[in-house]
Amino acid sequence: MYIILLGAPGAGKGTQAKRIMEQYRIPQISTGDILRAEVQAQTELGKLVKSIMDQGKLVSDDIMIKIIEKRIQQPDCQNGFILDGFPRTIPQAEALEALIQKLNSGKLKVIEISVPDDEIIKRISNRRVCRNCGKDYNLLFNPPPPDNKCEVCGGEIIQRSDDAEETVRKRLTEYRNKTAALVEYYEKKNRLYRVNGMQSIDRVFEDIQKILESNGH
Ligand code: ADP
Ligand code: ADP
Ligand code: ZN
Repeated sequence: MYIILLGAPGAGKGTQAKRIMEQYRIPQISTGDILRAEVQAQTELGKLVKSIMDQGKLVSDDIMIKIIEKRIQQPDCQNGFILDGFPRTIPQAEALEALIQKLNSGKLKVIEISVPDDEIIKRISNRRVCRNCGKDYNLLFNPPPPDNKCEVCGGEIIQRSDDAEETVRKRLTEYRNKTAALVEYYEKKNRLYRVNGMQSIDRVFEDIQKILESNGH
């Protein structure tokens, strides 16, 4: 089972990817998490992408395609994977197509989680994450403990540097300009399913489960 989660920044891709991973035992591949780990480790790649990410722009297709190519060849991807944050451009989607064709012929389902812009801004400005393990917190319904230490690993809970409102607006512009076209791209290939992201996390997950358990494509 190959799953792509599409949706604007803050739509809930990471949240749902984790639920899918637990339920169906297939790995979540978050390109944002991969890039943030490179930045934190101050690798050559990390140094290269840090300022691009902080400006809310997309990292180049070349770099992203190489990262994904390497990642999906790992043994844990044999029975499928959930892509969260990739592809984000048509060239990335085309490269992915070629890569998937080389793998066992699994089903590819693309799920678009749709959420209006004002809600996006609200969700992201309240998002907090553990610096160490990436666990998600949200000031509105799942606030960090008073000592601000992650309940999973004790790490410091921070706001992502690209979650400042001005940068979120730039990321939304990038989404509209470059990523939104993927909805139509996958629609034409009969791979696209839509989910209303303006529901509780549980409800969104229920809708996703129905899609994954249906016999389409
Ligand atoms: P993405 O990976 O698409 O950027 P996240 O999964 O990180 O989005 O979600 C963004 C923020 O919104 C997080 O703080 C998350 O807890 C919160 N969130 C996710 N899904 C919902 C939902 N259905 N309703 C309200 N808040 C949500
Ligand atoms: P969100 O889901 O909240 O938009 P991500 O964690 O997916 O954020 O991505 C954070 C940043 O990492 C993006 O703004 C972009 O700079 C970079 N990035 C992640 N995935 C890609 C990708 N597939 N192509 C280009 N840039 C990417
Ligand atoms: Zn943690």
